Amino acid sequence: MNGDSRSFGRPGGRSGGGAGAKAGAGGKDGGGKRYFFRRRKVCKFCADKIDYVDYKDIKLISQFVPERGKILPRRMFGTCAEHQRKLTEAVNRARHIALLPYAAD
Ligand SMILES: [Zn+2]
Repeated sequence: MNGDSRSFGRPGGRSGGGAGAKAGAGGKDGGGKRYFFRRRKVCKFCADKIDYVDYKDIKLISQFVPERGKILPRRMFGTCAEHQRKLTEAVNRARHIALLPYAAD
């Protein structure tokens, strides 16, 4: 039974170790527009000067809540914390009165 069933260490023979897969890149990204412009991204609500996220404004909030009803992470839109919070509140409120679906899980 408990003999030497320990030969389960390495499955393959060719395990390089993982490091060194991408060697040779002699610089930053070698060509390619890899620009992340998240710093410049302004919260939509701030940009539109929306102080209060109206939960009845389905058109507005549904932009942030796809059909599944999951609120998108604010990273995706650059919504500021304050407005994200208001948005969440509005979404919850909208759900409450069945303007929006709950997450369909
Ligand atoms: Zn904002």
